[in-house]
Parts: sequence; C-alpha cells; structure tokens
Amino acid sequence: MRVVKFEKKNTEKLFDVLSRFGEVWSPMEKGESYSYQKIEDSNNFIFHEEVTRTILPEKKLLLPQKFPTLKFNSKKYEKPNEEIPTKILFGIHNCGISALNILDEFYTTDFVDADYQQRRNKLIIVGVSCIADEHCFCDKTNTNIVEKGYDIFFADLCNYYLVWIGTSKGDDIIRMGEDMGIFDANIPGDVTNKYAEYRKRNRESYCNDIDLEGSTDLMELSHDAEFWQELGDICLSCGQCTMVCPTCTCYNVIDEIDLNKDTGQRIRYWDSCLFKDFSLTAGDHNFRAARSERLKLWYTHKLKAFIGKFGAPSCVGCGRCIVTCPVDINIKTVAEKLKKKRAL
Ligand code: SF4
Ligand code: SF4
Repeated sequence: MRVVKFEKKNTEKLFDVLSRFGEVWSPMEKGESYSYQKIEDSNNFIFHEEVTRTILPEKKLLLPQKFPTLKFNSKKYEKPNEEIPTKILFGIHNCGISALNILDEFYTTDFVDADYQQRRNKLIIVGVSCIADEHCFCDKTNTNIVEKGYDIFFADLCNYYLVWIGTSKGDDIIRMGEDMGIFDANIPGDVTNKYAEYRKRNRESYCNDIDLEGSTDLMELSHDAEFWQELGDICLSCGQCTMVCPTCTCYNVIDEIDLNKDTGQRIRYWDSCLFKDFSLTAGDHNFRAARSERLKLWYTHKLKAFIGKFGAPSCVGCGRCIVTCPVDINIKTVAEKLKKKRAL
C-alpha cells in the first residue's frame, strides 16, 4: 500500500482534484449537528476531525430513505432508468468505513442487492481520522482503526496528513494530486514515531466506559431477563435508533399503482424492526407484538447474531443510538443491564 504526505494548506486544491472524479459529499453543519451534504464550493470544504457523527449515517448515500426500485405495467417490469452519479464520500471516519464494510458483506454475500451494488460501485470513500467524544466507543468494537474499505484515508499526524491509498481508484486521485503538487511521495524520516503517537492519541481519546465484555454470550443467557420488559415499557417504538444506526438494513417495499391501473412503481423504503407492523404477517398475526421482544431482537442482531454469520458484531461504536433515543435506551444502557446480570 502506497502512502503520501498532504499538507492542510492544500485543502482547496484537494477539493478541486476530488470534484474532477465526481460529486463531493461531506459532513456539513445542520443546526447543532452535522449531515452529509453535497459540497458545491471549496469554501465549504474542510477537514472535520472534530465532527464525530452525522445525524444520518453514510447508508443514506447508498440506499436513499425512499426510492423506486421497479417500474411496471401490465406486461413487464424493469429497473428505473436512473443515472447514478459518482459520489465521493469525504470525511467519513473509521467507524463509518467499518459500517460500510458490514453493509458490503450483508448486501453482496449470498445474494447481491442490485440497488445497493449499483450505488456502491459509484462511491469513492475518502476517510479522515477523528477525535472521539464522550459517546464514541469504536475502540471497544475494534473499529477505531480500519485497514480496508477506503480508497484514500487521511491520518492526522499533527504537522501533516499521512495519506493511505487503498485502491487503484484512490491511486488515480492521488496521482492527479501529485501532478498538481498537493501530495508528496517523500515521507519525512520521523513518520514512524509520528504514526505511533497518532495511534496513541487515538487510543487515549476515548472516555466512554461502556463494557461490552462477554455481551455476546450474555445476550443468549439473558433471553428471559426482566430488564427486557422494563425497557419495552418505556420504548416509544419510534424507530429512531434503527434509522440512525449505520449498520441497520431493514427495508420494505410497497407497490404504487397509477390511476390508469396499468402502470406503477415499486417503492423501497427504510423500515424498522422496532415498528410494530414490521412483524405483522398474513392472518393478522404479529410474532413480535411486544416492544420488549422487538428490542431484544435488535440487540441480539447488534451484539450476537451477526457474529454467527460474519464473524463480528454489527455495532461499530458510533454512538448514534446513544445521542438519539429519547428515553435513553441504547447499546450502552443495554450493556449495563447485561453487566449487572453478569455480576449477579
Ligand atoms: S448500535 Fe448504536 S453505537 Fe452501535 S453502530 Fe448502531 S447506532 Fe452506532
Ligand atoms: S429504543 Fe429509543 S430510539 Fe429506539 S425505538 Fe425505542 S424509544 Fe425509539
């Protein structure tokens, strides 16, 4: 893997290089938070190391919240003829890249999800290192440093960025930047020490004391624990935790028939296993009518079930569920309940 050096004074030129490869999307201020938005001008293009999380995660660029997945008439159906632009996702952090690695596994192993794949093929990932806040815990989920899943990654070594090149597409971008004089292949001699300091700074930046030790087995052993009912009693079933979680994948489809009764489209939209109707089946039977059962399913998926299939939990420690839930049910409060069980 090739590395080069980048200096912050060249940020404006970097935007120029990136925008030659596609639309540049990056976190932008939205009220008191941040959201991924298309950057139209280099004045809004900055390195957001202090941005810990956007409101909605990166999945919104790969599978929009609502979109037509098929068009049909009484004789045939076909994919909508939609032009998918190349997008450069700039400023994604380690946990976000880890989440995309999980989505890649989920949507392209066994069965390839064409809606996901066609957008993923047009997405260029440009990661940037970050500073943890009190809610981040990607150090506990081993997603605080990524070694795959990006095209380019900028690690802040204080005086300069060390730029990792992960793919040939990333290399194309870097080479264009080298031609414009903004990347330097001559890495300073102190890079090893600087990089070790960077890893140390990363390690020491976490203060979220969430304890996930043994949570996989404890999920299994706590299947009938009383705390699920307690949490179910206060959960609002609003589904916000699932919407903001970068690894949640539930969706539904609905057919919209035009008034002529001959044409229509199939709409795909984000759904949530926390919604009551999600488990409603024909015959009006709901196999997860209780909120406590739906919560248990979600946390089983995050902390246990995904490991069986893909070898790692599907929580990347982004902290979004912690800042989002209006009644303080999140991965941390559940881990604390599991921990109490462990202490009994
Ligand atoms: S469970 Fe919570 S902390 Fe974990 S990835 Fe989802 S939103 Fe982030
Ligand atoms: S756990 Fe919180 S965010 Fe999730 S559905 Fe329940 S109330 Fe909403």
